[in-house]
Amino acid sequence: MAKKKRKLRNIGIMAHIDAGKTTVTERILYYAGRTYKMAEVHDGGATMDFMQQERDRGITISSAVTQISWGESDIFIIDTPGHVDFTVEVERSLRVLDGAVALFDGVAGVEPQSETVWFQADKHNVARIAFINKMDRPGADFDFCVRSIRDNLKAQPIAIQMPVFIDHHFEGVIDLITQQWLTFDPQTQGLEMSAVEIPEQFRQQAHQRRERMIEQLAEIDDDIAADYLEGNEVSQQAIIDALRAATLSKSGVPVLCGSGLKNIGIQPLIDAITYYLPAPDELPALEGINTRNKVIQRERSKSAPLCALVFKVQQIEAKKLAFIRLYSGVLTEDDSVYNSTLKTSYKVKQLYRLYANKMERVSSAKAGEIIAIPKVRTTATGDTLCDGKNIIVLESIDTTAPVVSVAIEAETLQDKPKIEYALKQICEEDPTVHFEENEQTGDLIIRGMGELHIEVVLERIRTEFNLPLRSGKPSVVCQQSICETFEQKLSQQRTFEEEEISTSIEVTVSPLPRSTPCVCKLDSSVSESEIHPDIIRAALEGAENALQYGPEGYELVDTQLVIHHIACDARTPAALSAMRITAGEATRSAIKNAKPVVLQPLMTVDIYTTDEHLGDLIGDLNQRQGLIKDIENATLRSVIHATVPLKAMFGYALTLRSITHGRGSFSMKFNRFDAIDVL
Ligand code: GDP
Ligand code: MG
Repeated sequence: MAKKKRKLRNIGIMAHIDAGKTTVTERILYYAGRTYKMAEVHDGGATMDFMQQERDRGITISSAVTQISWGESDIFIIDTPGHVDFTVEVERSLRVLDGAVALFDGVAGVEPQSETVWFQADKHNVARIAFINKMDRPGADFDFCVRSIRDNLKAQPIAIQMPVFIDHHFEGVIDLITQQWLTFDPQTQGLEMSAVEIPEQFRQQAHQRRERMIEQLAEIDDDIAADYLEGNEVSQQAIIDALRAATLSKSGVPVLCGSGLKNIGIQPLIDAITYYLPAPDELPALEGINTRNKVIQRERSKSAPLCALVFKVQQIEAKKLAFIRLYSGVLTEDDSVYNSTLKTSYKVKQLYRLYANKMERVSSAKAGEIIAIPKVRTTATGDTLCDGKNIIVLESIDTTAPVVSVAIEAETLQDKPKIEYALKQICEEDPTVHFEENEQTGDLIIRGMGELHIEVVLERIRTEFNLPLRSGKPSVVCQQSICETFEQKLSQQRTFEEEEISTSIEVTVSPLPRSTPCVCKLDSSVSESEIHPDIIRAALEGAENALQYGPEGYELVDTQLVIHHIACDARTPAALSAMRITAGEATRSAIKNAKPVVLQPLMTVDIYTTDEHLGDLIGDLNQRQGLIKDIENATLRSVIHATVPLKAMFGYALTLRSITHGRGSFSMKFNRFDAIDVL
């Protein structure tokens, strides 16, 4: 008998912290039969949270991947972090997802962080279904949540279930498509699900809601529209097909509900993942570039040559693994692969599939799957692996500049190299962490994406690597630029190794637009026929070197330097050194005279509050030198959109809590480096 082709789904669960992602994931794993004892977040046994520290914090930081089987489907679940400091991790996981479940808290509806992640998912074209969790909580309001998806996320939610409350108690859901009441037996932790007749008192409402769902589908689906207009009965299959088409084209978002904690509604959610979210080969061909820098397309098929992306490097059970997403082709044990980012080949000796609580060795994997392989040499997140005869390089994963830094010091001298080693390991796993040594103080300087991000790194060094350390206060990473154009002439006479050398140079520095790297070039008037190339090179080296840092020692950016004139009366090694020094001094002096300015990281901040606190919050933002761009004023919820220097946002969560009595929330992301006085 021919083996039936299994359906593949690569999904992530995206949510605001505390919406219940870990709880719901645990339930999915449980019902899929992969974990046999159900773990609760509060007893720290969650299988999905690999790192001890995550358990302590109760937030999910790493993008661990896990695989389940459900009927005819294999579902790969990629865990996406919920905290704003880890947006790069979110981006990274969104790159390898085909679909996602957006999870919301049934009381809070759409929260700030869910908006950020939602719009990131839009950017990566990820198909979504929504699950309103925590329907058992007092005050949970399904219709409010559906509206908040429409209003805040500018999406088209289509409710395909309704919650059932009996005496204010959440008692399962009604499937609007089949018109059945689904109940979940608490005795078996929800394992036993029954589909029964809808109780009399809900029948009319369930019918009306079904009509509303079909109306919504008729607006976006021609087949449904035809049946609907002719008054024909619309079949269940037609509804499912239309919902799937709507999800894939992103014209609609099916909305389900339940309670992870009370084990209600999880199996229908897994069904919905397989019904509505796309299979890997249903997506448009993949784009990459070839060796001649030309954009090429690659079919997402297993018969095409191999193409895979390394999206995470992680140590699990003492094995250093690279997690890869296969987009095309087949990868078999002992295959030689070409890392087109690093331009090297190596053999893949083992392949592992990852279940939440165990690893399984397999002999091969194919297009669409996610697999782990032993990390080879310098392979890092963002690298492309492909067939050496069909080279393709995928766009690397976006990373933004680190904006927060902290100085750390080992408690004992012997620990210092160990801390450096630990940091190297962490940097390999997370390319948004950077570190260097301060040559004057011997301190190690760690840079990262935010306060919490740095805190997590320090915590890992302390607990995972068992290395005590002292840390300073976090500070923001600054840059420098200039505000004016300045021309500098400099002639020098110096005696160098008993040689008398005269050098002279003329340079002009001028400001470039924000967020451009420095440029250092020769004016066309400097002719190579008159001046020896060695002297030109020495002048350029001296200038380029001086162009790296501004007068206050911060990285210099957005600056152009043009050399107009060079003269040097010898070409000995000493003369070249003299030329380098003169060029460097002229450059530094030009920068000093061109009105240097410090650039700070500026953040886009959205603050969510109720109307009555608006005045106080705006006053506070003004004190923090924030620029308020827009205020959406509504009785239930107001939003302040502002640009604020990151430095002024340290510890903001506390202030916000005290002004709004705990009812406000905010989200923040990097905007640009700029001078504070532009605000
Ligand atoms: P995460 O931060 O999104 O991973 O959320 P967790 O799964 O860690 O859940 C956060 C808190 O909400 C925990 O205390 C959970 O027990 C609780 N929680 C999760 N799901 C539900 C639910 O459906 N109902 C209620 N009442 N609480 C829930
Ligand atoms: Mg969690």
